[in-house]
Amino acid sequence: MALSKAPWIDAEVHALNAWQDFGMVHPFTCGTDGCGQSLIATNDGWVCPDCDYIQDWAHTYMVDGSYIENYRDAMGQFMHEGKSDEDNGETTDEPDTSETSSGR
Ligand SMILES: [Zn+2]
Repeated sequence: MALSKAPWIDAEVHALNAWQDFGMVHPFTCGTDGCGQSLIATNDGWVCPDCDYIQDWAHTYMVDGSYIENYRDAMGQFMHEGKSDEDNGETTDEPDTSETSSGR
């Protein structure tokens, strides 16, 4: 899988942080034991807001701003089309008339 290494230009940092805020995909998180904070993209790489963890790579599609734009559009359309079907509630409570005459 292709990786992009820091440093990143402002537009790439912006795209990376857009992924972090996106909510539909799992964000990059801190690798320090017991921390697990969502990382923040900077020109020099990912940094953790709570400790000094640094990560200097991202997936190449993540630094491409057009990719998340398209993804957002696609998700937006999906949301709009996700209307609930009319509930076809059919009544199946017919009385059971088949009586079994036991004995004779
Ligand atoms: Zn951390």
